[in-house]
Amino acid sequence: MLIIGIDAATWTVIKPNLSRLPNFKKLMEEGEYSSIYLKQKPWSPEVWCSMFTGLLPEKHGHHDFVVNDRIVKREDIKAEFIWDILDENGVSVKALNIPFVVPPYNYNLDFKPVAQGVPVELDELLEEIEKVTAFALDVLNNNKPDLFIVAYTALDKLSHFHWGEDILVDFYEKIDIALGKLIAYDDEVIVISDHGFCDYDSAPVRTLPERTPKGKVKGDHHPEAIIIRKNVKCYIEQPVDVFKCIKKRFLGDLNG
Ligand SMILES: [Zn+2]
Repeated sequence: MLIIGIDAATWTVIKPNLSRLPNFKKLMEEGEYSSIYLKQKPWSPEVWCSMFTGLLPEKHGHHDFVVNDRIVKREDIKAEFIWDILDENGVSVKALNIPFVVPPYNYNLDFKPVAQGVPVELDELLEEIEKVTAFALDVLNNNKPDLFIVAYTALDKLSHFHWGEDILVDFYEKIDIALGKLIAYDDEVIVISDHGFCDYDSAPVRTLPERTPKGKVKGDHHPEAIIIRKNVKCYIEQPVDVFKCIKKRFLGDLNG
C-alpha cells in the first residue's frame, strides 16, 4: 500500500487544471475522489499528527512545530503512530518526509532533508520535490515495504506567497509528475492533503500574518482537503480515519 501526502493540495487548483495534471486525472478516473471537510483546525502539524496517530489534537497533544522556542521532536509526542504499531506486529513499513515536525519525520529511512528541513525559496522547494521523489523511487525499487508513506511539503509554502499565480500550477505539475512515477509501483493508493487553500482574505483561519519578512501573504489554509483512493475500501471522512483504515487493512480488528 502506498500513501502519498501532499501538504495543502486543493481541488480548487487541481480540478480546473486537469489537462496539465494527467496523473491526478488518471488516478481520479481509476479510483474514487472526494473532499475531507476538516472538523479540526486546518493546521499542518496537528492534522498530519492526527492522520497517523488516529487521535485528535486534544488527545495527541501536538500543536506546533516550535513550542517555547524549542523545536518539537517525535519523542516529545506521547502517542503511538501507525508505523510503530504495524512494526510491532510484523508489518514492514517506511515513512518519508512526514511534516508533523520540522524537519519532516522519517521512519525506517535515513533521509537528509533539503534546506535543513525548512525549504522556502523556489529552488529549495523544487529540490525537495525532486529529492523526495528520487529517494522514494529508490525505496520502491529496492526495499519496498508493505506500507510506504511519503509526503511533499512544497505546495503549502508556495501557496501562501503565490496563491492565484501560474507558478503554483507549475508546481502542481511537478507533483503530478512525481505522482505518476510513484503510483506505477502500487495498485493500492491513497493520495491525501492535510487541508486545502484559498485566498488570504477569504480564509477562515489565518496561519500567517498578512505581511511577513518574505512579503505579502496571498493565500491561507482552507478546511477542505483532498482524498483520492484506489483499491482502498475504507471510507475516509476525517484525517483520523486514515490511521483506522491502515490499521484495519493490515491488522484486521486485532487489538480493537
Ligand atoms: Zn499543511
